[in-house]
Amino acid sequence: MRVLPEGYPAEWVTDILLKDGSTVHLRPILPSDGEGLNDLISRMSRESVYHRFFRVKKRLDPDEVEYFTVLDYADRMAFVVERDARIVGVGRYDRQKTGSDTAEVAFAVADAEQGRGIGTRLLDYLTAYARPRGVTAFRAYVLADNHAMIRVFRGAGFRMRRELEEGVYTVEFPTEVSVETIAAAEEHEKRATAASLTPLFYPYSIAVIGASRDPASIGGRLMANLLSGDFTGPVYPVNPKAEVVRSMLAYKSVLDCPTVVDLAFVVVPARHVIPVVEQCAEKGVKGIVVISAGFAETGGDGTVLEDRLLEVVREHSIRMVGPNCMGLVNTDPAVRLDGQFGPVRPARGNVAMSSQSGALGIAILDYATKLNIGISSFVSVGNKADVSGNDLLLYWEDDPATDVILLYLESFGNPRRFARIARRIGQRKPIVAVKSGRTSAGARAASSHTGSLASLDIAVDALFHQSGVIRTATLSQLFDVTTLLANQPLPLGRRVGIVSNAGGPAILAVDALESHSLAVVEFSSGLQERLRSLLSPQAAVRNPVDMIASAGPEQYRACIETVMTSDEVDAVMAIFIPASPEGAEEIAAAIAAAASARYGEKPFLAVYMSSQGAPRDLAASDSRIPVYPFPEQAARALGHAVDYAEWRRRPVGSIVRFDDIDVPRAGAIVKQALLRLGEDGGWLGTDEVEGLLSSYGLRLPESGVASTADEAVAIAAGFPGAAVLKVIAPSAVHKSDVGGVVLDVSGEEELRRAFAQVTSAVPDAEGALVQEFVAGGHEVLIGVTQDPTFGPLIVFGLGGVFVELIGDVAFRIHPITDLDAVEMISEVKSSRLLEGYRGGEAGDLDAVRQALLRVSALVEDLPEIAEMDLNPVKVSGPGRGLTVVDARIRIREAQRAWLPEPDLRPARVSSPRMPQ
Ligand code: ADP
Ligand code: MG
Repeated sequence: MRVLPEGYPAEWVTDILLKDGSTVHLRPILPSDGEGLNDLISRMSRESVYHRFFRVKKRLDPDEVEYFTVLDYADRMAFVVERDARIVGVGRYDRQKTGSDTAEVAFAVADAEQGRGIGTRLLDYLTAYARPRGVTAFRAYVLADNHAMIRVFRGAGFRMRRELEEGVYTVEFPTEVSVETIAAAEEHEKRATAASLTPLFYPYSIAVIGASRDPASIGGRLMANLLSGDFTGPVYPVNPKAEVVRSMLAYKSVLDCPTVVDLAFVVVPARHVIPVVEQCAEKGVKGIVVISAGFAETGGDGTVLEDRLLEVVREHSIRMVGPNCMGLVNTDPAVRLDGQFGPVRPARGNVAMSSQSGALGIAILDYATKLNIGISSFVSVGNKADVSGNDLLLYWEDDPATDVILLYLESFGNPRRFARIARRIGQRKPIVAVKSGRTSAGARAASSHTGSLASLDIAVDALFHQSGVIRTATLSQLFDVTTLLANQPLPLGRRVGIVSNAGGPAILAVDALESHSLAVVEFSSGLQERLRSLLSPQAAVRNPVDMIASAGPEQYRACIETVMTSDEVDAVMAIFIPASPEGAEEIAAAIAAAASARYGEKPFLAVYMSSQGAPRDLAASDSRIPVYPFPEQAARALGHAVDYAEWRRRPVGSIVRFDDIDVPRAGAIVKQALLRLGEDGGWLGTDEVEGLLSSYGLRLPESGVASTADEAVAIAAGFPGAAVLKVIAPSAVHKSDVGGVVLDVSGEEELRRAFAQVTSAVPDAEGALVQEFVAGGHEVLIGVTQDPTFGPLIVFGLGGVFVELIGDVAFRIHPITDLDAVEMISEVKSSRLLEGYRGGEAGDLDAVRQALLRVSALVEDLPEIAEMDLNPVKVSGPGRGLTVVDARIRIREAQRAWLPEPDLRPARVSSPRMPQ
């Protein structure tokens, strides 16, 4: 093992994807990299070397080697990029003077590797590294004809300033993250990921390693599906023990296959997987699907094996699905890849699916096929060692064959990345998810109020809500909403028209629709008249339209046509109960024809209430009509679609950064406190809490700590009004419960009495906090708690009974946008009190929004914050702000691992834009 130099930032070692989809290794440079650098120079053209060093050289001399490789990883830093254990690129920055806010940057990339974005990636990592170390700008000297370098700077989205002097450009740009750098990084992430997955979805040729002659085995069934699916390229069975598999010549090893192999399915026992994958690497295979089980899902040795497997695929730029999965499908006629071992061949369609459970994946394909849901591609992700659900989302984002994305999830790898990606994709394609399992937020002993409010599944709900993902409770609901979204346009509003041949189901439909906040509004008299002219006198035409049981095909056709074309509804539901078997086919055909005639104008849903299922004309996939057996199902699906459409119409929020916050001061307080408290941390003291909150622009009342009654009197003497006394004691968590709070105290005598009272409330009293009394206003709670998977959650509610008794609170996953803050407040029903409900006193809502965003900013900058409970915050009248009168903050060593993804925090803005 190599000994790492002092201060080596090993957490920055990572694998990165390049534009062409290949994987390379990125790490901070080591003193032993001298030879590697010389090797790199030897592979650069004279011109490239000249561009880099401003002179032609073949080797670095020893002084130069030392200068380039021995760094302090603070003022001087370099990353190298390796492919196949050889250095193919290097980027460094050098801050010539400690403390200087500008550093010089330089890059070198091997000629054969240029154009893949290595320079841009290096720049991303250098800026991300330099930024928190106080480097605010980079400077580079670039020869005027070095267009490649200029492109790198521009491609990374930096706003550069350049000056040309004697053939050399001096380029300077801020290291600050901006909208442009984020956009550039996101675009890269998407393109590189999609490119890397293409060999999995569009292989020219396939090897099945472990192809079995036994038709009942997994390997046998997989072979059968690939062949009967009529894959467009060659399929090679690999089996060292068989000469022939399914009348095809079998190969002893993948290395013996006669053409290139792009994609390999691996169906061998776990212990053979790594050697097989190594052979695939040698063969040049680009994508691997490991079906074999016996990896991380078994724990222990399996986890070790999976780690090793991942290392092998990363080292060779292979993308891997699985292990422990059931395969993948791409129905595009250009490949016809049916690479799964289930019994059902999925039909072609516009829905992409990923399933974390293999067995359920098979059931999902089966059910989807029955329900006429066509698949564009399907991936059973298994253990997600390499290819993750997030990667697939990025692939499907621009996949022209995919309009709707379905996810069956059991866990999240990187929820923050999921939120960011899903939020963007959701603007164009709906994502529908079922999340099984439960998170354990709140299952832990809750040591603060906020902690106890977080219920089991709250983080997942918050995540989906924030990112516009449609969450369904069950698989059948997943399909109900998918058939609607995959086949019909999005509703433009909440008004629904119902056409039925029976009153009962129409009333059930109205109830169900209303329970999803949809409106079955009475039709205008004009529309009623037109309908009346089509129907028998007993029919009801106000909406729902009850055509009564005698309604025939022509009535259905005409009524649907009339309601569909009216501008009084945003969606139409046609209900049909086949009262007698005669004529049912004709009516079904009429419904289908009427809906097709107006296809795409507004969503149309059919309810065909019969245990026999709908007749062919209605149920056929090419009719593109979602058909439900019960009105409740149709109503719920439509409810989801309307909510989603509304989410999409909303403007996207942005994360607000404040320029009046004092990050260094807050950081110093936390650092000091951690020294005192140790790694496991603990609750902050009164002064620390005050320091931290005031650094983030959150106001606290004037206060002082008194250990004697005299001191209390002296402190209170400085207040313009009355005082509040509160016991300070380790045991007093809820101070007022034990009589440790006395409010509205004035006069020396009262103060002394109050001091005596609060300090005798508990045996371990250390003194009293003497605070200014804040009269009037509303009390709200703002808090932070941690979810083990999702990280910090931010909570808001109104103080006192509303939170405790009714649980009227809103949760969001940190970080929150300006719009999240607005929504959190309106989601809490008791917030109407802040608006001055029924002539009551109004509160400063803008200040509450700001406070939520400031708390989010605090959590962002200080990952040491474990829990926070601002309870209560007193909200004064409009324009008069708020005051945090009680606060508890717990810290511990920062938990957040540095994520190897672009830093997507937006730039600081000088005046935070607040929504009105
Ligand atoms: P605890 O939550 O530990 O019982 P608090 O400091 O929150 O103690 O005080 C209890 C209640 O007293 C608060 O919920 C609030 O209603 C009121 N209160 C506390 N401090 C002040 C203050 N400075 N001005 C006005 N009211 C206060
Ligand atoms: Mg309190």
